[in-house]
Amino acid sequence: MNILSFMEEFPTGSACKAHFKDQREKEGVICKKCSSSSHYWLKAKDQWQCKTCDFRTTLKSGSIMEGSKVDFHTWYKAMAFMTFSKKTNSASELQRQLNHPKYDTIWRLMHKIRSAIGKRYALYQLERVVEFDEGYFEKATSEKIKLKRGRGSQRQMNVAVMAATPLEDLDTVRRALNVDTLR
Ligand SMILES: [Zn+2]
Repeated sequence: MNILSFMEEFPTGSACKAHFKDQREKEGVICKKCSSSSHYWLKAKDQWQCKTCDFRTTLKSGSIMEGSKVDFHTWYKAMAFMTFSKKTNSASELQRQLNHPKYDTIWRLMHKIRSAIGKRYALYQLERVVEFDEGYFEKATSEKIKLKRGRGSQRQMNVAVMAATPLEDLDTVRRALNVDTLR
């Protein structure tokens, strides 16, 4: 996928939202309260409701978008830009590309996407949700496989993870990667 096919496939926020909902349903929505996997979709609320206990799960819940007021289209575009343009390193450049009024919002978005690279729970969503050909996320997965094979690649990965991850997330990353060599 490139930027043009991205724009064709995801022209609007509702296209992104529909795609995200589909992917989560393929993955299986699990009720946080009773672990049931049977849900009704409440269209007006953008939430699933558990058929067993009525607990509701929002579309963004459990993803890196959880708690974010930023719309789906902006999230998708940010992920797209960060994926297609490996050199989009600065939040101000991403802000310019997205034509977004708030630097702080984009800065936070960027950091969340970056820290998701090293975290399995977010990774699996991003991987399936946004199947960009040469995404960060697939790369992170293949790095992870290498990680199990040799100490050399393990060290490289540590460096990559540390560069991409805020310090407070290192414990999560360590757990996600099943390694204890991150310092
Ligand atoms: Zn339930």
